Amino acid sequence: MQKITILGATGSIGISTLDVVSRYRDLYELYALTANSSYRQLTELCIKYQPKYAVIQEAYVAPLNELLKANRCSTQVLAGDSALIEVSVDSQVDIVMAAIVGAAGLLPTFKAVEAGKKVLLANKESLVMAGALFMNAAAKARALLLPIDSEHNAMFQCMPLNHKSISASGIRRLLLTGSGGPFRQWSKTQIANASPQQACNHPNWSMGPKISVDSASLMNKGLELIEACWLFDIEPSKVDIVIHPQSVIHSMVEYIDGSVLAQMGNPDMRTPIAHALAWPERMESGVASLDILATARLDFEPPDLERFPMLSLAIAAAHSKGAVATILNAANEVAVDAFLAGSISFAQMYDVVAATLDSIENRELIDLESVQHVDYCARQYAINYVKGQQ
Ligand code: NAD
Ligand code: MG
Repeated sequence: MQKITILGATGSIGISTLDVVSRYRDLYELYALTANSSYRQLTELCIKYQPKYAVIQEAYVAPLNELLKANRCSTQVLAGDSALIEVSVDSQVDIVMAAIVGAAGLLPTFKAVEAGKKVLLANKESLVMAGALFMNAAAKARALLLPIDSEHNAMFQCMPLNHKSISASGIRRLLLTGSGGPFRQWSKTQIANASPQQACNHPNWSMGPKISVDSASLMNKGLELIEACWLFDIEPSKVDIVIHPQSVIHSMVEYIDGSVLAQMGNPDMRTPIAHALAWPERMESGVASLDILATARLDFEPPDLERFPMLSLAIAAAHSKGAVATILNAANEVAVDAFLAGSISFAQMYDVVAATLDSIENRELIDLESVQHVDYCARQYAINYVKGQQ
């Protein structure tokens, strides 16, 4: 039996992970499920899956305990950020699914890596914020880091099993695909005034609100470019972003002999989750067979940086050293929150991120504290900038 902690169990990735894991109750035991504030949903999950621990922010401990007691559920409740770390590093835990959204996921994910766990990485923001430190910690602790982001999981699947490095495997470039999001065919003016509801209405994937907005602005593809560079130790100039509206190919790897390998399948996150759980073997995920005839055609186009300028900011960050990506990520989180709250327009998200990148000084990231310091400064600047726009 392998013991699993699911960080962000109540989210879109968390629920998909539980769906896969519950098909193999004889192989996996749930050690801990965590949530930020949604204690009712966490109660339901505890009743259904009976984890040993449930972790939630301090303010929701009492109502969670009450509901669990009323339902005679024996799951023990732990509180706050320190508990997120405890259930990620405990010696009993074998696998950590890192599926908290945003910078909040960095610390527990990083600690799980340092503890040498098998870490299934959905929280791409960890790598964007602290890529070098994160990859060094993984190498030092011999943590097994497996990508859950569908594109990175696809690339990983298209690399040889004994993959050591891009050059040793004879890889020429990576093709990072993206659907183009809900505004792929919208004009610049239409995009500028899009509502949160329109931005979250993704054509192919059902995801949490933050990544849905990032997908609509194409910031998500930029974060994924940075993520790919760290995960696979490759220069950004060797990663091409390709818009592929059908989301059937989840990314490709081109080799020096001209071969291009693609991973295909229905757009359902249970495939990369099951792949990473079972790796290097395979397990059932519940995902339906790909109807290749109904798919009929595969289209590809370059991304339009003019209509999606957030992507340009992220590409520039991928080519920069130091803390630029950390600043980008923090400002973007503030901008997305403000947009979802109705405080700024879709177009103003770009202004928030560009202004923060212009104003916060770049610096070397030597440790986790320096990452958190830059994140804090950028966040404060972005919050004040948003206030100035209202
Ligand atoms: P979501 O919003 O659906 O869920 C987020 C989870 O994190 C919830 O369980 C929430 O309770 C928890 N959380 C939020 N803030 C927290 C905080 N401050 N402290 C502790 N817990 C907190 O998000 P999601 O769509 O599942 O995405 C999770 C991560 O996976 C993101 O980093 C995202 O980029 C990545 N990802 C998601 C998808 C997808 O299909 N949803 C695909 C690829 C990558
Ligand atoms: Mg992705």
